[in-house]
Amino acid sequence: MDIQEVRSLIKIIPDFPQKGILFQDIFPIFRNPKAVETLITHITDHIVSNIKEKIDVVVGLEARGFLFGPIVALRLNASFAPVRKRGKLPGNTITAEYQKEYGVDVFEMQDDAIKQNQNVIIIDDLIATGGTASAAGELVKKFGGNILEYIFLIELVELDGCRKLKSPVYSIFKS
Ligand code: IMP
Repeated sequence: MDIQEVRSLIKIIPDFPQKGILFQDIFPIFRNPKAVETLITHITDHIVSNIKEKIDVVVGLEARGFLFGPIVALRLNASFAPVRKRGKLPGNTITAEYQKEYGVDVFEMQDDAIKQNQNVIIIDDLIATGGTASAAGELVKKFGGNILEYIFLIELVELDGCRKLKSPVYSIFKS
């Protein structure tokens, strides 16, 4: 299977979670082990050929970043660290606030998830406005982590969310 066939599995669901939104559903990829293999190999080949530093930590964003972040981390012999919404992670945490359309939300990571100067990659399924990814980046910087790249399966190009990010971005599919 090639990466364009993986793309063809992404399903567009109209009016989810609200009317007017075209939701890109990546779960069909995970129904097909060959598609997952192709996707993970594509991501790790990209990293190995473009980033010369050793990746220490793969950071995945709640919730769909948890689907492929740990597999990529395993392939890179790196650790995986989740970013979650407030109140979901046990023990001591470090937080970053971010502005949502209505009100403020808070992201958290466990305080021993990243050490100062570790090389980090941040992974999520989709970048829209870039608000989520940018808040995750601020959080990683509080640990003193070096963000080498953001990786997304899908970039909604018209929203130009990458403009908000201060590290390089690799989006596999532009939409
Ligand atoms: P942003 O903060 O506006 O860039 O939105 C990105 C966040 O919203 C990510 O965590 C995505 O998982 C989620 N998201 C927004 N639209 C979609 C979609 O169409 N499919 C899957 N996730 C989406």
